Amino acid sequence: MSAQVIDGKAFAAKVRAQVATEVGKLATEHDLVPGLAVVLVGEDPASQVYVRSKGKMTVEVGMKSVEHRLDDDTTEAALLDVIKSLNEDPTIHGILVQLPLPKHLNEDLVIGSIDPAKDVDGFHISNVGLLGTGQKSMVPCTPLGCLMMLRDHHGSLSGMDAVVIGRSNIVGKPMAQLLLGDSCTVTIAHSRTKDLPDVVRRADIVVAAVGRPEMVPGDWIKPGATVIDVGINRLDAPEKGEGKTRLVGDVHYESAAAVAGAITPVPGGVGPMTIACLLANTLTACCRANGLPEPEGLTA
Ligand code: NDP
Repeated sequence: MSAQVIDGKAFAAKVRAQVATEVGKLATEHDLVPGLAVVLVGEDPASQVYVRSKGKMTVEVGMKSVEHRLDDDTTEAALLDVIKSLNEDPTIHGILVQLPLPKHLNEDLVIGSIDPAKDVDGFHISNVGLLGTGQKSMVPCTPLGCLMMLRDHHGSLSGMDAVVIGRSNIVGKPMAQLLLGDSCTVTIAHSRTKDLPDVVRRADIVVAAVGRPEMVPGDWIKPGATVIDVGINRLDAPEKGEGKTRLVGDVHYESAAAVAGAITPVPGGVGPMTIACLLANTLTACCRANGLPEPEGLTA
């Protein structure tokens, strides 16, 4: 058997196109432009790349994009002031503070200062609580992207056995909540889980969010299961030339694809969905702020 490849790049393009259409309708019917503000503190090269591509895609779907680039030694008070002004700005519907922050800044405090209605990353404690109690919330982008791909592939997820490997606040835990919300029977595995291969072998859906290159081999996968690989790991690739690298997921792709029913590749799987869902969340936040109905299929 060879798994169907779930093409996250193509699916993300479809989501962005839907967002662009809805943004167009907001402009013509309500004279509204959703606005996304990204705040970056410091010079982390990976963060700079993310912020650039978020800004570019925000503009491409017709939204307003604002970037605040602050120095590495920005004080907490100065950062909180920027967030306060964005909270109060009616043209801004989504605020994202790029993580990680420099060590001297308290991440929980900073995230907690964002208006929960504008918290398009879904990390504010109010949104975590709303998601955990099955209420309308802003949902973290990466797990939302995984959920959209699973729904698109399966239709209903009701009654399926799902195993999420990883219990981080940004991926593992919200992913498990979303799967529970769609009536899966959910197991959350982590570094202390006993007999992980056996736990994974029971799953109809496996979501791997560990951060360990190719940790999940094909012989852990139940034949026909759907595998969502969240991991992004960079490995040396001397075969491509000196100093070259390649990206791999947390799943050993070749062996897993031989048994799975469907699988997301790395790159080109979950990754592109994350930014698409950030745009979807900004649109949702704009609709909610203006008392308008939310577009179909872009929220949990
Ligand atoms: P974290 O490091 O915060 O969490 C990793 C989790 O994996 C922890 O819960 C840890 O368990 C668990 N874990 C570690 N080792 C093992 C093991 N041997 N067996 C079972 N579980 C283990 O990572 P994140 O959740 O932030 O990210 C996970 C991966 O997803 C990374 O590769 C990251 O780069 C990627 N990622 C990709 C995104 C995308 O857009 N595609 C977005 C966000 C992340 P414990 O809690 O017990 O320590």
